[in-house]
Amino acid sequence: SKLFQSVELAPRDPILGLTEQYNSDTRSHKVNLGVGVYYDDDGRVPLLRCVHKAEVDRVQAQLAHSYLPIEGIAKLNRGARELVLGKDSEAIKSERCVTVQSIGGTGALKIGADYLRALLPDAKVAISKPSWENHRALFEKAGFEVVEYPYYDPETHGLNLDGMLDFLKSLPAKSIVVLHACCHNPTGVDPTPEQWTEIAKVVQDKELIPFMDIAYQGFGDGLQADAAAVRLFVEKGLNCLISTSFSKSFSLYGERIGALTLVTDSAEEAARVLSQVKRVIRTNYSNPPTFGGAIVAEALNTPELFAMWEEELGEMRQRIKEMRSQLVNKLAENGVNMNFDFVMAQKGMFSYSGLTAAQVDKLREEHAIYAISSGRICVAALNSKNIDTVAKAIASVIK
Ligand code: PLP
Repeated sequence: SKLFQSVELAPRDPILGLTEQYNSDTRSHKVNLGVGVYYDDDGRVPLLRCVHKAEVDRVQAQLAHSYLPIEGIAKLNRGARELVLGKDSEAIKSERCVTVQSIGGTGALKIGADYLRALLPDAKVAISKPSWENHRALFEKAGFEVVEYPYYDPETHGLNLDGMLDFLKSLPAKSIVVLHACCHNPTGVDPTPEQWTEIAKVVQDKELIPFMDIAYQGFGDGLQADAAAVRLFVEKGLNCLISTSFSKSFSLYGERIGALTLVTDSAEEAARVLSQVKRVIRTNYSNPPTFGGAIVAEALNTPELFAMWEEELGEMRQRIKEMRSQLVNKLAENGVNMNFDFVMAQKGMFSYSGLTAAQVDKLREEHAIYAISSGRICVAALNSKNIDTVAKAIASVIK
């Protein structure tokens, strides 16, 4: 029937395309700073001790592989909700939050997007400029018009707060605003607590719907501090959606674990919302997978495992900070006179390094160092073995 005859080739994912190019590079000193993954000092994706312990316990328990409920594991959902809102959250106590397990943070965004599209079919979705490369496509595929609010200011390497607030003020009521709750991807630039207060005020005054994406909780200033922006919005009494990813924080990327939390006005409203969100899940993939979710559920709910996790997250966070400071110092040692202190102020795994597309090309061609053409580098891919080579190479392309 020639069904597929006129199908066009879709464009390659730019980041995954870069990794393919990196993999086929035969130079032994190559470094991939284009990734979105935390590597340890040996350049490996870590298996966290808390995860390993929970895995061994689970295997030993010899559990059968039945289905989960549509909304996933109750213990995971409770743990995810308490992690982001705080155990003492009034919204949790009054049972007006709904949480469902999701297929990673991406799945939480997608379930949330599909649900919002049914609720607010004509809403615009505003994402930051720039944003995680999948935000636009994901909300467009859900049927929304996607616009960008000013965010990053290349002049200051910081936040364009006035531009952002002016844009948000111009949006129609009930527009959806996607906010990176901490550790902004790709820039590493986060609003200060004072700036978050101003953003929340505009969101509230203009009756916008905040969709808080939290994919790096624990990588900025710690588990509690990184949730402050989300808690601010919830404490203001706003209805909001929160997508949590556990991919990075538990180093469980391929297990695909996340959660979507919706904050409603009452327990009765929450029950109705849950019934609708379950319908979205049921018609997409029926119910989530068990193993990874069970591991995270144990880690979040067992004090011994939770303490182990917090320590390991702290180690990851400290290592990234150490790499930031070494990079800045080593650039100076290599004769770069441009001030790179902004790299130290950035949060999370990424840095908008200020490198131009031409400099990124030169890094790849002449030094086998791979970065995104926007200048985004993954600081968590630096380590004590490659940092000297990388600093020297960056210095040589910008001098
Ligand atoms: N949101 C942001 C801002 C991200 O950076 C990512 C992953 O890179 C995600 C969501 C998706 O996370 P997951 O891999 O859990 O789907």
